[in-house]
Amino acid sequence: MDLNKIVRDNILRLKPYSCARDEFKGREASVFLDANESPFNGPYNRYPDPLQVELKAAIAREKGIPSPYIFLGNGSDEAIDLVYRVFCEPGIDNVVAIQPTYGMYGVCADINNVEYRQVPLGEGYNLDADALLGACDEHTKVIWICTPNNPTGNVLDRKQIETVIELFDGIVVIDEAYSDFCDERPFRYDVGRYDNLIVLNTFSKAWASAAIRLGMAYANPAIIAFFNKVKYPYNVNMLTQQEALKVLSDRRRYMKWLITTRQERDNLMPSFALLPFCQKVYPSSANFFLAKVTDAERIYNYLIDCGIVVRNRNNVALCEGCLRITVGDAQENNALLSALRKAPF
Ligand SMILES: *Cc1c(COP(=O)(O)O)cnc(C)c1O
Repeated sequence: MDLNKIVRDNILRLKPYSCARDEFKGREASVFLDANESPFNGPYNRYPDPLQVELKAAIAREKGIPSPYIFLGNGSDEAIDLVYRVFCEPGIDNVVAIQPTYGMYGVCADINNVEYRQVPLGEGYNLDADALLGACDEHTKVIWICTPNNPTGNVLDRKQIETVIELFDGIVVIDEAYSDFCDERPFRYDVGRYDNLIVLNTFSKAWASAAIRLGMAYANPAIIAFFNKVKYPYNVNMLTQQEALKVLSDRRRYMKWLITTRQERDNLMPSFALLPFCQKVYPSSANFFLAKVTDAERIYNYLIDCGIVVRNRNNVALCEGCLRITVGDAQENNALLSALRKAPF
């Protein structure tokens, strides 16, 4: 893949904003009079590190990805939007995505005025590389894949994904927001091998930190450089950087969360499957599962009346009649089951 042919011309030519903290490259300084900051209210008076060097080093250790291959953003959503802004010419280029999948790929396509082509997953929500590649044309810049997929919960076949990466002459994004919950080898280890691969991770799920808004994109440094060129200079604030370092520092606590959630999932799914109105529970490698029920609207509304919110996916193509249920803690999962066992239908 020739990156210069994939990146938009205006982005290739772009001379990025150079902030005060970018330009200062000297020794340790103690007097900062370069950024029009206030001298009061430390440490919040200072701009945060625009390239998040310390945090990237900690993520590099945790994830086994070298720092130069890491981009950090305000949630994965920032990376998703940047993919469009870097690679897709509005009104001309298109992207191809699996269906059903995470809604933000389509929303960001619409915002950026980029055609969004959806290719339905096959039997068992499985991926067919040929179908995905068949939907591409000379204006297809990006293919979106999500594994384990949201809202279906299943892991897509590695061989099929590898075929897509190897045969597609553009960017393949693999969203691994839920990969911490499964045992398959994640694709993030392959960003050194494929120069057209971008892998997304997030602190919002297994790392239990949705509030701090932190997402990662892993890719070869040439792609990361374009992301850095286009992003807002201080896109990850200081509080987020500090909190992420804190949550990363307690690996045992993280492992406990992960093991507990997986155990709860493995308890909740078979119990849910026994409910009289449950027609099918789809296999899950994530912290949620998809369930087909006799009357999704009615059960959804009944749960709302019980003060329990699940995700109604009844109106999503290929998910008709389905609810998506997040695995909570033991108490929340019991509340869900006992409400449903008392349901008058
Ligand atoms: C939850 C989720 C994310 C997380 O997005 P953030 O902006 O990092 O919170 C990303 N991708 C998928 C598929 C998700 O389900």
